[in-house]
Amino acid sequence: MPSPLRIVELAARSETGPTREHNEDRYLAGNGVLAVADGMGGARAGEVAAQMAVDSLEAVGRDAAIEELADALRRANGDIHNAASEPDKSGMGTTATAGVVRGSSLFLAHVGDSRAYLWRDGALEALTDDHSVVAEMVRSGQLTKAEAANHPHRNVITRALGAAPSVEIDTPEQGLLPGDVILICSDGLSGAVSDKQIAATIAAGGGLDAIAERLVSIANESSGADNVTVVMGRVDDAPAAPALSAGGGAAGGRRSLPVFEQARARSRRGLRPLVAAVLTLLALGLGAVAWIDSRSFTLRESGGTIEVARGLPIGLERTWQPTGVPASALEEAGDPLTGGARGRGEAVRDAVDLIWTRGITIPEPLSAPTELPPPAARATPTPTVPEQP
Ligand code: MG
Repeated sequence: MPSPLRIVELAARSETGPTREHNEDRYLAGNGVLAVADGMGGARAGEVAAQMAVDSLEAVGRDAAIEELADALRRANGDIHNAASEPDKSGMGTTATAGVVRGSSLFLAHVGDSRAYLWRDGALEALTDDHSVVAEMVRSGQLTKAEAANHPHRNVITRALGAAPSVEIDTPEQGLLPGDVILICSDGLSGAVSDKQIAATIAAGGGLDAIAERLVSIANESSGADNVTVVMGRVDDAPAAPALSAGGGAAGGRRSLPVFEQARARSRRGLRPLVAAVLTLLALGLGAVAWIDSRSFTLRESGGTIEVARGLPIGLERTWQPTGVPASALEEAGDPLTGGARGRGEAVRDAVDLIWTRGITIPEPLSAPTELPPPAARATPTPTVPEQP
């Protein structure tokens, strides 16, 4: 008999994305339940519906019976449907894809087009069927997957919580092995990033936190047209981290941190004085360098003549004052360019010495200034008045 498995690593990310004004996705990643709900409906009603689904799932305890997951979605369906009778919440609904690990299996409850995937040994497998118009057409052979990806009705779903007084819920099961990763996401990820890209991103490795962050970034860069939410859990036969035993989260205003995130936040708070001290020292150091740089002057050759350059002679010099002294004159003058950075007064004195002491004179202008015509004559040409016959 396979040994019982537990979620030993957990990560969740939810972002509004660059296009939408609100995040209508919600997620749950704690108390043994992984879930994503993608709300829909005007006037931010989608957020309400998604939150109701997540709240209902959050009430499912760690050791609750498997059936309670689907029951929680049925309760949410009734509540959302009733609330949708209010004028400002008319038409609201939500997808919901939720999973719990019991023994060595993953039990899912699923409605809509959010998805659950399994990552095992370098391969990604979808565990849920989308309840959408295009997915039904793909299943019946009317569309290919490639055609579905660009179909104008790809966002139309055929099943949602809140759409009707009752709802049919898919409850697939999946046997698990140690090391398996469960990924649940909204269509902000699966609609923008191909399964192949998702697999490549997970295969690139790193902790689940980093992978979830990369997936959300890729979705935002690829499309950015929708809210994107990713929840991931890695299972193993190791004892559960205590952090996973409590808490739950929903993106947006009501987000609460799972315990392990709270622990990390506490450790981040402990580091704050040290980080502040390092940043202060860094800022002081940069300020000092900038101050010294602004007061460093050097003589250097540039374009066949000598100029006074400003800036630390570590590649930061820039032209401050050309002298017009030909570089060839310096060879006769000995070694006037060495000596490194010096103050402006000294550099200018050296430059003046070069110009005058070495007998080099500022060249006269190439041509004498031309006397300008009087301003009135330059303003506008005098109009020609035709002679009167
Ligand atoms: Mg969506």
